Amino acid sequence: MNMPGQMMYAPLLLSSLLAQAAQRAAAVEIVSRRVEGDIHRYTYRDCHARAMQLANALTRRGIHGGDRVGTLAWNGYRHMELYYGISGIGAVCHTINPRLFPEQIAYIINHARDRMICFDASFAPLVEQIAHQCPHVETWMMLGDEAALPDAFAIPLESYEAFIGEHPAQFAWPQFDEREAAALCYTSGTTGNPKGVLYSHRSLTLMAYASVAPDALCLSAADTIAPVVPMFHVNAWGLPFSAALVGAKLVLPGAKLDGESLCALFEQEGVTCSAGVPTVWLGLADYMRRNDKRSGTFKRAIVGGSACPPQLAGSLGELGINAVHAWGMTELSPVGTVCSPSHNYADKPADERACLDAKQGRAIAGIELKIVGADGEPLTWDGKSAGDLMARGHWVLDRYYGVEQSPLEGGWFPTGDVATIDADGYMQITDRSKDVIKSGGEWISSIELECIAMSHPEVEMVACIACEHPKWDERPLLVVVRRPDSTLTASDLLAFYEGKVAKWWIPDDVVFVSELPLTATGKLHKLVLRQRFGQHFVGTCARPA
Ligand code: AMP
Repeated sequence: MNMPGQMMYAPLLLSSLLAQAAQRAAAVEIVSRRVEGDIHRYTYRDCHARAMQLANALTRRGIHGGDRVGTLAWNGYRHMELYYGISGIGAVCHTINPRLFPEQIAYIINHARDRMICFDASFAPLVEQIAHQCPHVETWMMLGDEAALPDAFAIPLESYEAFIGEHPAQFAWPQFDEREAAALCYTSGTTGNPKGVLYSHRSLTLMAYASVAPDALCLSAADTIAPVVPMFHVNAWGLPFSAALVGAKLVLPGAKLDGESLCALFEQEGVTCSAGVPTVWLGLADYMRRNDKRSGTFKRAIVGGSACPPQLAGSLGELGINAVHAWGMTELSPVGTVCSPSHNYADKPADERACLDAKQGRAIAGIELKIVGADGEPLTWDGKSAGDLMARGHWVLDRYYGVEQSPLEGGWFPTGDVATIDADGYMQITDRSKDVIKSGGEWISSIELECIAMSHPEVEMVACIACEHPKWDERPLLVVVRRPDSTLTASDLLAFYEGKVAKWWIPDDVVFVSELPLTATGKLHKLVLRQRFGQHFVGTCARPA
């Protein structure tokens, strides 16, 4: 006979995170650099009060549970209120990536059937461009005062401050099934239409609980957290939820993400921990080095979204900042692994520790990983066998929004990444499966070749792509942006690989470009590069054995 446990039950709802922060961390600040240019500061108590005003306003407007409300906004306090106010009434906060092409944005808004779009003033020109393509949107709401609304605009606009202003700052957050949808984010796939990932209250709350743990993002009330990763991309890696959970001070940097702006904001606000993609940290490290700065309070840079080049970790280390490597994806809400030291880390020699730090890390509690071969059978965790990475867990996608067929294979989500896992459970991404270079029947890791090139002092940015080859099927080509004033030649850079990888891994050629194409989420757009350079070796047969 089963026996039910006799403990309290309350659904895991996001509203409870903010409501509790408003009590436990009532006076802790949320600081925002606004698109208007100034700094805004208030507390968790104020944020909760305004989220309740918003909840009242939305309810009065007839927004119901399950309705989608879109946001086109930078990281800021009003976006935070939208996260909680929309999801708190049971509606779905649909964060939209403004860096996508306007047609893709219109597609996403229509696919999600957003009833309302709330946008930062800086996106007004974009809204004007797409509004006529989005017939289901009833309200376009600018995140600002009535006075800031533009005089002549193609469509009727409302102001956020007027919308919430006259409503009471009291609201009884409804209790409903924790599996209801809370947030929606579309993947920025490089091919085909973006696909929607619909997060539940349960999945986001559980991820917030798991991600604050010491072996995960290691967040506490003593931290000042600055999510540089945008709130329009996978909920800024859940930081608006995990910061509220622990009651940490939040610093939201708005639109200015260059090294100088971040350095000034971090110094001024005493930021201890931040999260962003490698390009953001390259910019910060470069600025700090050139201006002879050293880090004060800022000790932990969580690096994810793309592989963290070891040389980046090294330069951050010299500035007094510890790079913490993490891996995830939109479909994983996104935190999957974090590279934190295990019990035997300190005993390892320095070179082994450096190798470990370069890995994407161990699955955080709540996530399981496996790697499988071409036959679908699990591969050994020996740190060498590379296979398709599969994930499952409480905050892993089950199916895409509006798509009947689930992508799961035997209950596991195929991530599309290729990885190794070592005996201690440290996972290392070797490639996206579509970016792997298949040379003479063997696989070459484009990420490893990129990391080596990045460690060359004259290389600013690099992409390694597979190019068609008449003899070897595919061979690696480096597409490189040199540092200013560098005269680095292709042969110098290729010679730099000698002794670092097997001879047959060394790229066949290098092309120098002034910039590399990036996707809407700041990753290398290898598809564009393959379209441009994919035939580079056609007509060539030579290749050193
Ligand atoms: P997105 O869904 O746009 O966040 O992209 C997720 C993909 O980014 C993953 O499947 C990986 O291919 C890549 N990615 C994320 N974090 C890392 C990392 N630390 N190292 C290498 N690739 C990463």
